[in-house]
Amino acid sequence: MGLGNQEISVTDLTAFREEVRAWLGENCPDGVKGPGEVHSGSTKLSFEPDTQLWMERMAERGWTVATWPKEYGGGGLSVEESQVLNEEMSRIGARPPLMNMGTRMLGPTLLEYGTEDQKKKHLTAIAQGRAAWCQGYSEPGAGSDLAGLRCRAEDKGDYFLINGQKTWTSGAQHADWMFCLVRTDFDVPKHQGISFVLLPMDQDGISVRPIDLISGISPFCETFLDNAIAEKQDLVGQINDGWTVGKRLLQHERSGQGGLGTAATRPLPVGVTVDLNVEEVGMEYLPGDGRISDPTLRDEVIAWNMRSAAFKSTQRRAGEEVKDGKTQGEATSVFKLYGATLARDRQDLILQLMGSQGLGWEGEAFSADEVGATRSWLASKAVTIYGGTNEVQANIIAKRVLGLPD
Ligand SMILES: Cc1cc2nc3c(=O)[nH]c(=O)nc-3n(C[C@H](O)[C@H](O)[C@H](O)COP(=O)(O)OP(=O)(O)OC[C@H]3O[C@@H](n4cnc5c(N)ncnc54)[C@H](O)[C@@H]3O)c2cc1C
Repeated sequence: MGLGNQEISVTDLTAFREEVRAWLGENCPDGVKGPGEVHSGSTKLSFEPDTQLWMERMAERGWTVATWPKEYGGGGLSVEESQVLNEEMSRIGARPPLMNMGTRMLGPTLLEYGTEDQKKKHLTAIAQGRAAWCQGYSEPGAGSDLAGLRCRAEDKGDYFLINGQKTWTSGAQHADWMFCLVRTDFDVPKHQGISFVLLPMDQDGISVRPIDLISGISPFCETFLDNAIAEKQDLVGQINDGWTVGKRLLQHERSGQGGLGTAATRPLPVGVTVDLNVEEVGMEYLPGDGRISDPTLRDEVIAWNMRSAAFKSTQRRAGEEVKDGKTQGEATSVFKLYGATLARDRQDLILQLMGSQGLGWEGEAFSADEVGATRSWLASKAVTIYGGTNEVQANIIAKRVLGLPD
């Protein structure tokens, strides 16, 4: 087993596992076992006492971001050690202590591109659950063509003055900070005039308007920047080279979206009475012995299971091939595309298996799980859009992975 120059023996890992198991036994509150709330780091929200306690205890050990260096609030664990930690948490059903765009996207990007001051300031706050981040990329006229963005940042010496609009900004209403792509030069080819800046959400120049969905919830917002300010010290990477940083962040985002913890591989939510294992499928909904009577649907279920198993194995192999644990480059698009498609197809299948019980929106005729399944099906339509659509991933794979001509 190897990690760069560092060799970790099986004995070390066994001792580490015992230490982790004992520590979790003493420190993991019962209230964070099983499905439920996960701390988002937002200072604008309050969390259940056990969720808060769990985050704080894990943060103290650096295990909210276990592989980050200790000097930035991480645990300094090797990839193998963090796998052990994850396995031990799964064993007792513990939820992640902290999860947000800082832990998954901005943090890994700052580790690669941030200055020492940026790492100390922002990574430590993220690790300790003191800052939730949102992503200011998309604009009304720039989605798939992200490099066409027009949010303008003027250089004012110590700071940038920013004017423009972002949209689909997930969690902006609860975020403390935003990482944002802005245009700092309008007179060069579009990819070359973009910069990557960090700015606090609590300032007069920023206002957010939540976008209501038909379900009544608001996962994202329109974000207006009217003379908003980003300090010069919060420019990440070089001026006008924000595309390099922004693209790398998307790879971290996509690696999470196409990762092993997604719906493409995840067991069904607790309480949903259908399962994609043929033997167990929808006993409540299917007549007779519980087998799926429709042979076409039976084939589809088996095909999905096979695709999911192959996806899992490929993910594991790809993970093992990356020795330093770093997120892959353009190849993340392969996993995003395939994982998102699998996740969407899974919800389609669940609905088909549920028959008319899968069409519940509200009312006594449907259980909470059934209503939940219908809403999950609707939500699954977004998976092939956020982080870059399936078509965009296919374009990246064609050009950057397979080297096909434009
Ligand atoms: C749930 C959700 C959360 C989101 N959260 C955020 C967020 O936090 N921050 C943020 O910045 N953005 C966020 N987004 C926005 C997301 O990144 C964009 O929706 C996405 O990039 C697509 O852009 P668009 O919506 O403008 O669609 P468009 O770019 O207008 O695309 C419309 C259709 O045309 C296709 N298309 C476009 N160009 C091409 C091409 N060259 N080749 C082939 N097909 C093409 C697309 O695949 C798509 O099917 C979120 C989106 C969703 C659904």
